[in-house]
Amino acid sequence: KKSKKSKADKGAEKKKGTEVYPQPLEAFGDLRTTYGISRRLGENLFQQGYKVPTEVQMGSLPLLLRPKIALGSSMTELDDFNTDNGVNLLAVAPTGSGKTLAFLIPVVDSIVQRRRANDDKRHSLEAVVVAPTKELASQIVNEAKKFCVGTGIKVVGMRKGMSIVPESNSGTTQDSSSEEEESELDDATPKLKSLLPLVRTDILVTTPGLLQSALSSTMPEHPASLPSVRTLILDEADVLLDPLFRDQSLGIWNSCTNTELCVTLWSATMGSNIEELASSTIQSRATRIGLQLSP
Ligand code: ADP
Ligand code: MG
Repeated sequence: KKSKKSKADKGAEKKKGTEVYPQPLEAFGDLRTTYGISRRLGENLFQQGYKVPTEVQMGSLPLLLRPKIALGSSMTELDDFNTDNGVNLLAVAPTGSGKTLAFLIPVVDSIVQRRRANDDKRHSLEAVVVAPTKELASQIVNEAKKFCVGTGIKVVGMRKGMSIVPESNSGTTQDSSSEEEESELDDATPKLKSLLPLVRTDILVTTPGLLQSALSSTMPEHPASLPSVRTLILDEADVLLDPLFRDQSLGIWNSCTNTELCVTLWSATMGSNIEELASSTIQSRATRIGLQLSP
C-alpha cells in the first residue's frame, strides 16, 4: 500500500483500510464485466454455481487479473516497464477458503487470452502448480479441468516417467516445434528421442519431487530449465518451503527462467521464516529483472 502519510492522516476511515487498492472483488459476475475474463471461463464458473467470492478470492483476484495496477504506486510508473510482468503474491488464508479457485482463475484466463491473441492453439507449458502431495495435485487437476472445459486448455498431472523437456533442445519447449504436429512422439529428433513420453500441456500440476527429478533426469548437476513457464504456483507454500521440500521447490523455481515469471504462494499458515524467504526471493528476482517492488 502506497498512500502518503498526509493522506493516511485524513481520517480514521482510511486507517481501517477502506483505501484498499485495487478494490476487492464483490461478485463472480464482476470477473467478466470488470476484469474481462474470457466468456467461456465466466460461464464455467457460473455453471458451477460460484456467486460470492471468499475473502481470499476477493483480495487476490483483482491483483492477479490486473497485474499492472498491483505492481507499483502508479500507472505511470508501471507503464515505463512496458512489459507483461505479473505480480508476485503471497496469500495466507484458512483451509477451505477457496485458494484453489483463486490461483486457477487468473492462470486459466491468461492462457486463454494469450492463445487467442497469438491465434496459437498449440500447447506450451505456461503454468506449473506445485503441491506437496499427489492427492492434492490430483484434486487441483480435477478442479482445473472443470474451469478449462471448452477453452482448449490442457491440464496434466505429472506422473513418474513423464518428460517435460524435449531432449533435442532441453529448456526450449516454447519455440521448439513450430512446424511439428502436436503428437507427443514428434517432439524430439529421432536420434535424441527420449525414452520418456514428452508431455505437452498448458498447465502442469505436480509434486516437487516428481518435477524436480524430471528436470534433473538427463543432467543431475544442471537441471533443465522451463523458459516457457510464466506462472509458478506454490500451493501449501508453508509445506513446500519447509526443510523437507525446500530444495526441490526452490530448484523448480530456479528452473523457471522466464523474465516475466509470476510466482504466487498460497498457504493456510505462514511462519516468519517462510515469509522472509518468500519476500527476499521475490525481491531478488525482481531486482534482477529491474522491477521496483513496493515494500
Ligand atoms: P483451500 O485450498 O483454501 O483449503 P479449496 O480451494 O480446496 O480451499 O476450496 C474448498 C471448497 O470451497 C471447494 O469445494 C471449493 O469448490 C469451494 N469454494 C471455493 N470458492 C468458493 C466460493 N466462492 N463459493 C462457494 N464455494 C467455494
Ligand atoms: Mg488448498
